[in-house]
Order: sequence, then C-alpha cells, then structure tokens
Amino acid sequence: MDSAAFRQAALALLGPKGFLTAPEELSPSLTDWRGLYHGKACGLALPASTAEAAALVKLTAEFGIPVVPQGGNTGLSGAATPDMSGDAVIVNMRRMNRIRALDTANDTILVEAGCILSAIQEAAAAADRLFPLSLTAEGSCQIGGNLATNAGGINVLKFGNARALTLGLEVVLPDGSVLDALTTLHKDNSGYDLKQLFIGAEGTLGLITAATLKLFPAFKARSTALVALSDLAQAPVLLGRCRAATADQLISFELLPRFGLELAQKHFGLRQPLEQLPAWALLIEAATPSADFDIALALERALGEALEAGEIGDGLLAESESQRGDLWRLREGIVNAQPREGVCHKHDIAVPVAGIPAFVADAGAALARDYPAARLLCFGHVGDGNLHFNLLQPAGGDGAPFQSLAPAINQLVHDHVAAHKGSISAEHGIGQLRRTELRRLKSPVALQTMRAIKAALDPQGRFNPGKVL
Ligand code: FAD
Repeated sequence: MDSAAFRQAALALLGPKGFLTAPEELSPSLTDWRGLYHGKACGLALPASTAEAAALVKLTAEFGIPVVPQGGNTGLSGAATPDMSGDAVIVNMRRMNRIRALDTANDTILVEAGCILSAIQEAAAAADRLFPLSLTAEGSCQIGGNLATNAGGINVLKFGNARALTLGLEVVLPDGSVLDALTTLHKDNSGYDLKQLFIGAEGTLGLITAATLKLFPAFKARSTALVALSDLAQAPVLLGRCRAATADQLISFELLPRFGLELAQKHFGLRQPLEQLPAWALLIEAATPSADFDIALALERALGEALEAGEIGDGLLAESESQRGDLWRLREGIVNAQPREGVCHKHDIAVPVAGIPAFVADAGAALARDYPAARLLCFGHVGDGNLHFNLLQPAGGDGAPFQSLAPAINQLVHDHVAAHKGSISAEHGIGQLRRTELRRLKSPVALQTMRAIKAALDPQGRFNPGKVL
C-alpha cells in the first residue's frame, strides 16, 4: 500500500475540491456522532459524479486502500468512523446531492446518495407527494447513509423502513464497477434482488451513489394524541384498536416513559401536558391522504373506547399544529437529554410487539438487580416492536466506572433479547458497537452466509473494514 502515491493519484482524479487532506478538513469525519469512536484517514474523497466515484474506487483497488463510506455521520454504531491506522480513505457523497428525477405518474423520485433526507422530503412535498422516511437526524443525514443503515424512524408502522421505500439502487462495487440497478419498476422478479444486499450493509459491500425511492400521496389531515397507558401490557391492545379504527392510517405509536418525560422537562423546560406524569405515555399519530376521511374523529373515538375499556387513563388530542409540535418536542427531548445525563449504554432492540411487556419486565428486573443505581430509559417505536432500551449512569456520579461496564450490561440486555426471540439491532445497525455481540448471538449459518457474500463482492476486505463482520 503506497498512501502517498494514492493521495497524489486521487488528487489528480478529483481535484482540490474533491480530495481533501488538510487535518482541519478531515477532523469532523474522524469521530462519530456520539464521540465514542475516533479514527484517522489518508484523505477525504468527495466525488461529484458516479463516474468519479467509480474511478476513485478503482484507484483504491489498485493501491489496496481501505474505503470508509460516510454520509452525514449521524450513525449511532460507529460504522462511518475509520480505524486508527490512517490507511483508509473516507468517501463522502455530499457533492452528489441532486434530485435527478421526480415522476408523479410512477410515484418515484430518483436521488443521488448525498441528498440530505429533509431535502428529499421537501422535494416530494412540493410535488404534493410524501416521502415518509423521517427521523430526528433528517436535517443532516444523507439518503446514502439511510439506505446503508436501513434506517427506520417514526413512520415505519405504516410505510416500513428504508428498505421498503426503495425500488432501485446504483452502487459502485469494490472493484470499481458500477451496478446500475436504478430501476423505477414496482415489480421485478428477474433474478436475485441485488439492491437488498447493499441496504443495511453499512458500507461493507459497496458505495451507494443513487437510489430510486417510492413516493406516496401527501397527507391532507393528521391527528396526534398523547395518552397515559394504564399498564404497559395494554400497549399492543391499544395499537390494534387504533389501527383498525383509523382504517390502518396509524403512522406513529411511540412509547414515552415517565423518566424520559422528566428529563425532557429538566433539560429543555418542556411542559408536561398530562395532569399527572404517567408511568408510560404513548404518542400516537394518524394521518390520511384523503380530505374526506375524518381522521381526528376516528382517533378520538378509538381513544374514547380505550378509556372505557381501561386501556388508558388521561389523554389529550392536539388541537393545533403548535400543540402537535409540543408533543413531538417531548419525544425529541427524551433523545436529546440522554447525552446531558452522562454515560448511556444504548440498546436498539426489537422483539415481537406482543412480547414487549414481558421483555421490559424481565430485562428491567435483571438490570435493577445487577445495577440498582443505574437508570433505565426505555422509549421508542413500540408499534414496530422497537425499543431504545438504554441504561444511564447513576445520577451525578463519575461516568468512567459505568462506561467500563458496557460489555456486561450489553450482554445482559442482549441475552434477554435473544430469549424473547428479538434482534440486537432494530434500526441503528451493527457498526463497531455491536460486532462482538453479533458474533455471539447470530446463528453460525447466518454468519457464514454473510461472510460468503462479503468475500464474493469484496475479496480484499477493503470496504469498511472492522464493521459488521
Ligand atoms: P453515516 O452515519 O455517515 O453512515 C452510516 C453508515 O452508512 C456507515 O456504515 C457508512 O459507512 C454507511 N454509508 C453512508 N453513506 C453511504 C453510501 N453512500 N454508500 C454506502 N454506505 C454508506 N436511525 C433510525 O433508523 N431511526 C431513527 O429514528 C434514528 N434517529 C436518530 C436520531 C438522531 C438524533 C441521530 C443522531 C441518529 C438517529 N438515527 C436513527 C441513526 C441513523 O442511522 C442515522 O441518522 C442515518 O440513517 C445515517 O445516515 P448518515 O448519512 O448520517 O450516515
């Protein structure tokens, strides 16, 4: 590997705007969002076209240079941070941020991988369409990163995750060849569905350069409620009730715990809308593309029936867009309060929806037994069976000893996940953070198959080394 010669060749190929090496230009790309992982790189490549990206990857193959694809660097598993060797080149797609086409007849949008997620949402809205992928990092994450992590977010219940929203991909393979699978077809059974390999692969199999995504009719009305659950066991019951009553137009069903609401108030001064702080609250949102369907009435009726059935206690429906914003700010406040409370061991787990109450009881009791001073913050996309089952350090204490407990805490939580037939990553991916746990808990046949796919596409093991596998 001749790094200096590679740098010279990459600079000649991409020019000074397309290949950066100054430490101050590289530095934001060398640490992950949470500040857990740090790395070094021989350069930051910013290709401006698919042809440039392909030529760059060919160059890396020639020189044996590892490639770390990076988008908005908002990932939560350390998957976009290079290792400390300084051998790798980081490839960021931010200069490839064009919307190439939007077709309202076919309901598709063709975007380059460096498009910021919110820009795609806005382009869809301008055409009276909806691109439903939505998450708190949407103002800075790139669609390439969303696809590489198979991102989920707050609308998965109705529309599925990034995988479900994708029709086609364009990918530069590790040898520099371009897989043009940018179909706009809604149906295509002509052989293996190759795009699926790259969605959720966390940049280990190739560099995504463009995608064709599905669009949906824009929402014409929505209704949002915050309710106090009488018992966590009622969550799956209420979910079924609300889905049926709204003609399956439920888009979000988010669990907010008392501790999370308290943190949102403490750090951001957010007012508590319910009279009493409940042990568990649900933020429920339904939305419809039909101006004739009274979605607010449908949700209100369902919640009235739930109240009578004893599934919920207190509750309120947002009466204005600003009230709706206040409710969602509570949800975001929980996410954003976490770093302010010190060390937090995050678990992005999924279990079958019906199994959530039992999982929370079992894993919660085990954590309380072994780590009595630590604080469980369990919130998230309960309608998808996806919880952020996070353990915060004891209040006000020194974080360092708690940080060192990560392997034991992770194992405890993940063993309960496995016992409840769940997954150790519902949406944030494996990256560096969960690699050891993947090896411990994934079936040997699944791991062997993953390794065979990796070896077939990237025999030199140069794409995002040290991640996932
Ligand atoms: P990066 O972090 O830059 O990269 C992530 C991975 O994708 C890495 O493996 C990288 O190598 C790979 N990658 C990036 N671009 C490409 C490309 N062009 N080709 C191939 N590989 C590539 N996630 C959810 O699923 N749901 C949520 O609700 C959610 N909420 C979040 C809230 C906050 C505040 C934050 C900070 C993150 C949240 N995330 C959530 C994490 C989520 O994974 C990322 O926000 C997003 O999907 C990653 O996009 P990115 O562009 O930042 O990718």
